[in-house]
Amino acid sequence: MINAPTISTHGILRPTLVEVDLTRLAENFRAIHQKVAPAKMMPILKANAYGHGLVEAAHLMETLGADYLGVAVLEEGILLREQGIRTPILVLGGILGNQVPHFIKHNLTITASSVEKLWQVDEIAEQLGLMARVHLKIDTGMERIGVHYYSAESLLETALRCKHLDVEGIFSHFANSDAADLSYSRLQLERFHEVLHFYEKHALPAPRLRHMANSGAILQMPEAYFDLVRPGLLLYGVYPDPETYRSIRVFPALSWKSRVVYFKVIQPGHPVGYGSTWQTDHPVRAVTIPVGYGDGYFRSMSHRAQVLIRGQKFPVIGRISMDQIVVNLEWETAYNDDEVVLIGEMGRERITAEDLAQWASTIPYEILTNINTRVPRVYRGGT
Ligand SMILES: *Cc1c(COP(=O)(O)O)cnc(C)c1O
Repeated sequence: MINAPTISTHGILRPTLVEVDLTRLAENFRAIHQKVAPAKMMPILKANAYGHGLVEAAHLMETLGADYLGVAVLEEGILLREQGIRTPILVLGGILGNQVPHFIKHNLTITASSVEKLWQVDEIAEQLGLMARVHLKIDTGMERIGVHYYSAESLLETALRCKHLDVEGIFSHFANSDAADLSYSRLQLERFHEVLHFYEKHALPAPRLRHMANSGAILQMPEAYFDLVRPGLLLYGVYPDPETYRSIRVFPALSWKSRVVYFKVIQPGHPVGYGSTWQTDHPVRAVTIPVGYGDGYFRSMSHRAQVLIRGQKFPVIGRISMDQIVVNLEWETAYNDDEVVLIGEMGRERITAEDLAQWASTIPYEILTNINTRVPRVYRGGT
């Protein structure tokens, strides 16, 4: 199965591609599910499923029995509906009034985080003669969307009075749940409990789905599972931070590969790449690989990145260009069409999204979500 890149392949696939191992993705899902049960699963599929392909990942999660799917923006939700996904979908981001009818028509669940928004959604639902499904968003310590925990009561009260809303969920989000020091996360959890206490205090039923746990909390805070968990990065087999306690074993589902397209010997006094930033003091063998920052291979990894060729690690030399990199083989040899691993395993060696994150001074989330649509995705395995 190959998903359509934005440029036509004319039946010929670019040598630079992403391979997604659906079997691993399924195993990661099951490993997480087993740990969090009886809590339900809401796999997070935003940003092209962290680079793994939104539609393919959604079909797999639906087949695996995911209870809910989470995306960031309305368009991601609509695309999934158009592709036949029937599982409930929560759009996690903020909304604008003119988007509301589209949410309702496509049966997408709205994140509501202010009294005004609730009334607005209720009114639009009434006009359409339909019910709008809503999850209330409580800010317990991120200062992004969400009503502050210390003034959430009016939102909860309003939600109970809106006649055209199905207030199915209430949720919050952790700022540092992947850290070794969980004190701020515990404070956030306590604040969320305070908000939920409203329902007990007034003997009212709480929304059916209370949720808070992202990957960090799934690994480190079982007390934060509530009714449903929201795994993102962990589902894809990557740990959010080197510090995070690894209570669940998962394996990376994504490999990024290319092939050697050129071989040459570089002599001393002949610098490599833009800016002429790298030179050798002895003749070296080098190969060119057709990948660059135009694919999401960050330029900031210049002079740090490594790749795997013939089972060995070799350094990228000179600046990373838009479409090409040069790799120093020293005295080793390689041939045109030899496989190159940018992320993934080869023999006993491996290069991880975490490695690239370190070279680029960023986090693995940004590495994965930046592999763009010029790179075709190829799928292997299955449930
Ligand atoms: C992205 C996101 C998640 C998933 O976070 P991970 O750290 O990738 O597990 C969960 N909840 C919300 C609200 C998010 O925006």
